[in-house]
Amino acid sequence: MKEWDWEKAHSLVPDLPADFREYALELFDGYHTLYYHGRGVNQTVICPVCRHAERYGSRTRIYPKSGERALCISCGRRGKYRHALRTERPSVNEIYIFIGQKYGEKGFILRGFKATLIERSPLSKQVQYKDEEPFEIRLSEHRRLYITRDGYEKEYNDPKWETLHRTASGYATAWAEDEFSIHWGAAYGDNYKKFIIHLYPGIIEEMKGTAAEYSMMQSLYGPEPQAEYYLPIPKFSYAGCVNLTIWDFLASYAKDRKLEILFKCGLTNLAISKLAGEPLHYNWRGKTPWDYLKVTKERFKWMCKHNPSTRMLEICRYERKHGLRLDEESCNTFGASGMTAAELGYYIRFMSPKQLSNRLLKYTGKKGDLRQIHITYRDYLHMREALEYNMNDSIIVYPRNLREEHDKMVIEQNANEAAKRQKEAEKRFRKIRERFKGAAGVYMFEEKGLMIRIAKNASEIVEEGRQLHHCVGGDTYLKRHADRKSAILFIRHAKDPTVPYITVEIAPTGEIKQWYGIHDTKPDKKKIEKFLKDYQKQLDLKALAKEAKVKICATERVAV
Ligand SMILES: [Zn+2]
Repeated sequence: MKEWDWEKAHSLVPDLPADFREYALELFDGYHTLYYHGRGVNQTVICPVCRHAERYGSRTRIYPKSGERALCISCGRRGKYRHALRTERPSVNEIYIFIGQKYGEKGFILRGFKATLIERSPLSKQVQYKDEEPFEIRLSEHRRLYITRDGYEKEYNDPKWETLHRTASGYATAWAEDEFSIHWGAAYGDNYKKFIIHLYPGIIEEMKGTAAEYSMMQSLYGPEPQAEYYLPIPKFSYAGCVNLTIWDFLASYAKDRKLEILFKCGLTNLAISKLAGEPLHYNWRGKTPWDYLKVTKERFKWMCKHNPSTRMLEICRYERKHGLRLDEESCNTFGASGMTAAELGYYIRFMSPKQLSNRLLKYTGKKGDLRQIHITYRDYLHMREALEYNMNDSIIVYPRNLREEHDKMVIEQNANEAAKRQKEAEKRFRKIRERFKGAAGVYMFEEKGLMIRIAKNASEIVEEGRQLHHCVGGDTYLKRHADRKSAILFIRHAKDPTVPYITVEIAPTGEIKQWYGIHDTKPDKKKIEKFLKDYQKQLDLKALAKEAKVKICATERVAV
């Protein structure tokens, strides 16, 4: 590859089209400033571009106000009113313009300009329109993307934003107040252009015969491309929605001309995902398109017909890597389900790809959503496996009613998790069981249909927390109870002694630290408060201290 010569490259850059400045000016429609002065019915509005002035008569009943929308009756330019005397600063607006041009021998260059529109008040003390123009357009070029024939691409960003043109030539005649004629402005509708990057028209034509001719820009941006474009991100792609400018597109193309292959083969989903920045890891050394994509030749043909997503590309690669030989129907099913290669790998531990495809189609039926069915089936199998079912049993792997069996598994899994948690707590907090033996009598009390007692074991506390949906089953309370720093007590109805109702935490001093019912609420508050007061009165505080202290002495003895 030749050494890149900046000076030479810059010297080959062609002149801007003769109408470029005019084109830039037109883009500012909606962003002009119309200056007004005078009072009441004697107001005058001046357009800095066409320099037309309009005196407002009482018949128009329109009184310009600063910041309101304005229209120049003479040239039709739209913008906002500004008082001609109240500010010395000119109004300044900026836009960005890209332009694509041929350059040198079959080269193509994309150039980025900032256009600045400066409009001055005709009555400003600092500005004499005799010397200076009422408005000017400044064009500064700050980016260049060179695309050359031999696959060489260079991006140039000028840190100084070199100002190439300073004045709006052709508008240099004098501005004289006497020449003002009368017209009236009107409030304008909402159709202001949103300021975006603009693209000088004719880029597709300009690309012909250059190194950028086969960029396939047309297939993505249409025959009349805009500078900015929201890519329609394909389904089952990992990328989000991206705003891809022509600039980014051409730079990507110049860096990876294999994009051309993807577009030409109809693999636009992959091409767009690649442009959106998804790393697709192609085989650069591949001599054929299928080698390049790392799929089989047969699958490549299928892909060209079906325009797959990146997820499906991964499945096609998985197929080649593991010698799966998928049939067309399976490919269509997997593609539509949005399944990943890893998920396919999971499924085929239990069934062949063909069986999987048949199953998914059967569960989906005519009305179902293949994607939803795939997720349900995957989760179902995961749960079955986690619950240690026999995965060789076809009744388990192929449930007759998928939804029903899935929901059953959810319930079973939740129950299983609760049981696991209880088992684990029981193991870690064995001391709770020991504590119960000596403390049961100390804490027991019954009055008016309510009873209170200390927790028997860890799993009972866990279950209490689960059923009442509060946090007593967490490690904090289990540990405090096991270490006798406080005691967890249950208030229950004497006739339903197994049903959780109120949970109480009590200090070794007999102080009630907290009590809660379901979801951290305080049901039957007065009744419970009265009950707890009576309970505290009859508590044997000495026995309580002793019960709590036993543990403390024991630890001390161990420590010594
Ligand atoms: Zn005008």
